[in-house]
Amino acid sequence: MRPCRVEIRTRALEENFRFLAGLAAPHAELLAIVKANAYGHSLALCAPAVVRAGAKWLGVTSVEEGVAARALCPEARVLVVSGVARGQAAAAIDFALTPVVWERWQLDELDAAARAAGVAAGSLAVHLEIDTGMSRQGVEPGELGGVFSRFAPGSPLRLEAVMTHLFAADEADGAATSEQLQRLDGALERISAAGLFAEWLNVGASAALLAGQAHAIAELAERHGMKALLRPGLALFGVIPEFDPAFEAEPPSLAAARATLQPVLAWKSAVMGVRSIPAGATIGYNATFVATEPMRLALIAAGYADGLDRALGNRFHLLVRGQRAPLVGRVSMDQAVIDVTEIAGVAAGDEVVLIGAQGGETITACDHARATKTIPWEIFTRISARVARTAIE
Ligand SMILES: *Cc1c(COP(=O)(O)O)cnc(C)c1O
Repeated sequence: MRPCRVEIRTRALEENFRFLAGLAAPHAELLAIVKANAYGHSLALCAPAVVRAGAKWLGVTSVEEGVAARALCPEARVLVVSGVARGQAAAAIDFALTPVVWERWQLDELDAAARAAGVAAGSLAVHLEIDTGMSRQGVEPGELGGVFSRFAPGSPLRLEAVMTHLFAADEADGAATSEQLQRLDGALERISAAGLFAEWLNVGASAALLAGQAHAIAELAERHGMKALLRPGLALFGVIPEFDPAFEAEPPSLAAARATLQPVLAWKSAVMGVRSIPAGATIGYNATFVATEPMRLALIAAGYADGLDRALGNRFHLLVRGQRAPLVGRVSMDQAVIDVTEIAGVAAGDEVVLIGAQGGETITACDHARATKTIPWEIFTRISARVARTAIE
């Protein structure tokens, strides 16, 4: 097999889940976000692992991802966080998925599909999203009146949770989050004034959980007779979002997470061949690197079609024989070249680490993100489908 693969430590994922569940307890439960193929880590490997670790809820993007999660985890609750698309209500019901809803047409389509499928009154649980400031998805608090009738007695729909998404839980002053929670509080008042009750308040991703906000979310939930559900994704995979440097003292939950969370993914390739070049030789497309002295180069089986960002050429390094080897020249579609002049004994077949540890050195998804001016979420999700994911203990 072409040596470009991802290794997934399912045990680390299980331990991460248990640690995060402990951070949330006793105030809140967790919904494990495994959308986008478990952040590129493989849904097939990761969904069963978090369920083994005790997750009762999974979160995916779409009905398609939900169908895949249902096949892997027959007992889990599966929340479709980006909602059902037009025409997908019947499939959502068939596969016992729980839709996040905010558009009236979503409620109408689910209502009609549930009646057609003979779903009993109050048996199709949905999570109603409130737009508290992202302007992305969710009902405007002022427009809530328009959706209440969809939950009238006799409707197959049941309002199981009220949900919102915090957009700045990583910011130090917390002003945006408190404003969002205030708007949510107002929406909850309107919902109960309309005679509706939801069991769960579904709020907060990794940043909120790690910053110790489970307590504030749970307090808001309790005030409305609800239970809190938090939705971490990135932290499950052992990566801590970058927090605002203005956070003066790290909350204890964040310090504990730094000491405990373990990376789940390693991305590895191998040396295909080693060659020596004389001073003056050029490397790769457009000769962006010119050797000023004799060098030894190793060709590796990973390129931008695998998700190795082309912008990393001449600007990053990989690990071989436990040492940092600079990427020289442009990253090609399927290959890249590293400088091993200073690293003794490099030979064809040697393991090359793109993300992970080797010897005493480590390269993280955050290192890739910093070098390419993006975020670790994007680094993980663009490791392409042709890179095989395998579970290791
Ligand atoms: C992706 C996502 C999450 C998880 O976010 P992380 O920052 O990865 O923890 C939670 N909620 C919603 C609605 C999401 O889309």
